[in-house]
Amino acid sequence: MSTRQLLEDAKQSIRYGEQDPLPVMEQFYTLQGEGIWAGSAAYFVRLAGCDVGCHWCDVKDSWSVAPSQYVSVAEITAKAKAAGANRVVITGGEPSIYDLSALTSSLHEMGMFVHIETAGVHAPSGDIDWICLSPKKFLTAQEAWFQLAHELKVIISIGQDLIWAETLAARCHPDTQLLLQAEWSRKEQVHPLLIEYIKKFPRWRLSIQTHKHLDIP
Ligand code: SF4
Repeated sequence: MSTRQLLEDAKQSIRYGEQDPLPVMEQFYTLQGEGIWAGSAAYFVRLAGCDVGCHWCDVKDSWSVAPSQYVSVAEITAKAKAAGANRVVITGGEPSIYDLSALTSSLHEMGMFVHIETAGVHAPSGDIDWICLSPKKFLTAQEAWFQLAHELKVIISIGQDLIWAETLAARCHPDTQLLLQAEWSRKEQVHPLLIEYIKKFPRWRLSIQTHKHLDIP
């Protein structure tokens, strides 16, 4: 199936603004692989549903939502707690599709820190302790996310993406941590560019997908 058709089917399957239950593709305890928190233990809740449509996406099976994927917020939270996690990363798919108020409240009641990894294409919701904003060229991030983001992570496929990265950074809060990450399939070509760029502009840091090197989820 073409990427365009996959995306259209995904949009039809998504229940926008759903709060509880939420569609879960997978949830698991691991070490965070990329970004500022790389190497730290984190429980990931990967919500199903994405309407962004990055052609290089390596989790395209997260785009569409099946009725069988819906899980109550109480159950999602109980599993995170049972795993022994104290930090939960809500990811996707694209988690901003949903109203995360119930989920973030429930996780906080259990004493957990709540992170999100988002392309920011829908409005923020819920009470989130750490926001990693990773805008995509395929669907514009909403302005509200830029002032909220603790971390801006820009995926670089070609050198020209660095110009785009600077325009995104200019919209962020001055304290936002700035990271550049090579698109995985292009890392051999892109890493030398990023190393030279960060040496020249050291307010940026390099993010590496260490989980892929370690072969962990
Ligand atoms: S936003 Fe994330 S899940 Fe959605 S298409 Fe892009 S990389 Fe894939």
